[in-house]
Amino acid sequence: MSSPMFEKIALIGLGLIGSSLGHAIKRAGLASHISGHARSAETRDAALKIGFIDSAHESAQEACENADLIMLCVPLGAYGAVAQEIASSLKPGAILTDVGSVKVAAIRDIKPHLPDGVHLIPGHPIAGTEQSGPHAGFVELFDQRWCILTPEEDADKQAVQKLSDFWQACGSDVEIMSAEHHDLVLAITSHVPHLIAYNIVGTAADLEEVTRSEVIKFSAGGFRDFTRIAASDPTMWRDVFLSNKDAVLEMLGRFNEDLSALQRAIRWDDGDALFDLFTRTRKIRRGVIEAGQDDAEPDFGRSHAAKPDD
Ligand code: NAP
Repeated sequence: MSSPMFEKIALIGLGLIGSSLGHAIKRAGLASHISGHARSAETRDAALKIGFIDSAHESAQEACENADLIMLCVPLGAYGAVAQEIASSLKPGAILTDVGSVKVAAIRDIKPHLPDGVHLIPGHPIAGTEQSGPHAGFVELFDQRWCILTPEEDADKQAVQKLSDFWQACGSDVEIMSAEHHDLVLAITSHVPHLIAYNIVGTAADLEEVTRSEVIKFSAGGFRDFTRIAASDPTMWRDVFLSNKDAVLEMLGRFNEDLSALQRAIRWDDGDALFDLFTRTRKIRRGVIEAGQDDAEPDFGRSHAAKPDD
């Protein structure tokens, strides 16, 4: 039997992403041992019971001892403190990576603490759900999804290749780009859409002339699709916006300009402008499906079978 890619992998953070990684590592047999750390005993116990880690540790430092691959799967706001804590237990030659949704800030917060000889190769799987915690993870989360790696120019090429192989073995396709470019791309594809969802759900909840019960009752008109995104973890998303401030503000500037143009088109009965935009956006949806990033099922595949009380 061939030996696994890594002797020991340490998962720091055992929520949605950490647990999904544990399952994927086990499915592909990528480690002889997976150690894990989370803040609470409850999460650590759940992780052991579910079985996606082999040992649970109260301290992140202990979990990282002798690990060949260390994966930070905690909220971005915790990076600095966690990196400081684990630094002294990282062995030379180890790869330290993360899964955080913002990359410039990740490097800024981790790098100053690292001892020489440890390879920092930041990463971000473009895969997730609105659920959190150790029970939320599942083995297929990364299958046919992109994982972006953002190594600095002087990063060790072999280590980058090894991490790339690792993510492919977890089911992902891998793309490499700079941290700056990643943050700009994700600002428009993920961060601003989340902000829009948080905003529209917040606005609807605050309306006085339309009651909240009506907003919920008639939500199938479109609102409910925003509520899924707006149910995403508050800690994670607070940290994303505070960490990717510049890129998000830049994209929001563009968004506001385009929204004003739409407002004007409605005010001046410019149906052609509206029709042209909606035709272009429909093509984008087709492109997303053709690229295998979503199912073609109408209405996201929801069942429309009559319910007993319909
Ligand atoms: P999650 O389900 O909320 O899990 C977070 C984990 O981190 C929990 O195990 C938590 O421990 C632990 N943790 C939180 N603060 C900590 C601290 N100060 N020290 C040590 N451990 C701490 O979050 P997630 O969705 O897996 O997100 C983790 C990372 O993945 C984030 O950086 C996020 O940007 C990135 N990401 C998320 C998604 C997504 O869709 N959710 C997608 C791609 C990337 P306790 O359980 O004990 O509190």
